[in-house]
Amino acid sequence: MSETKKKNIRWVEEPELGFWETTFLPAVMKGLKTTLRHVTARRTVTQQYPEVKPELPLHYRGVHRLNRDEQDRVKCVACMMCATACPANCISIVGQAAPPEWPDRDKFPQSFELDELRCIYCGMCEEACPVDAIELTHIYDLTGESREDLLYDREKLLGVFDQTRNDARDPVRTGRGVLGPASEFQELPALGPATSVPTSDRSAKAESSGVIRTTGREGQR
Ligand code: SF4
Ligand code: SF4
Repeated sequence: MSETKKKNIRWVEEPELGFWETTFLPAVMKGLKTTLRHVTARRTVTQQYPEVKPELPLHYRGVHRLNRDEQDRVKCVACMMCATACPANCISIVGQAAPPEWPDRDKFPQSFELDELRCIYCGMCEEACPVDAIELTHIYDLTGESREDLLYDREKLLGVFDQTRNDARDPVRTGRGVLGPASEFQELPALGPATSVPTSDRSAKAESSGVIRTTGREGQR
């Protein structure tokens, strides 16, 4: 070892324990002092969820939605860009040739499946999408009774769009690095307790927030 490297090494000797240290009483007292400080602090650190909704960071990225276009068709053109960009490999798409009455595109997704359990909510899919068809929303409290419930198919993802399309908080971010309406908030609009949900809060109005219901509008959309 060179002399310079030797000079940069600082040897730390283990301190010798005195009589009191060997009884561990000073360490116990120090621990109790820390506990007492937290017990007597007047700071509230527990949030009463679900009665009180958590204050999430601005631009929090939650459940995905698959957008509809002006004609109410699925906006996705099955280009596979999102699936290619996804680092968690949790998007599966089967493309199909678009019907003749859809001259503006070559393909649409016959099936579109996103594993919300596998997703790491990085937002790469919405960044990659050339037509802003997939976006992340503010919905964070998705639940399910099985793993399959959290495999969101095309209808479920369109259902999230139907539930959030008029919510000012969504989309959190749009494609090509341009921030969505939520970026203009100084703070997130307050949500009331679950027992008094504001009428504007469409996601919280769902029978069970997070369990996204399909709209029944299925078929070639
Ligand atoms: S948010 Fe990230 S991990 Fe989740 S589907 Fe999109 S690209 Fe994949
Ligand atoms: S959501 Fe966007 S990126 Fe993904 S397949 Fe559809 S059009 Fe392509």
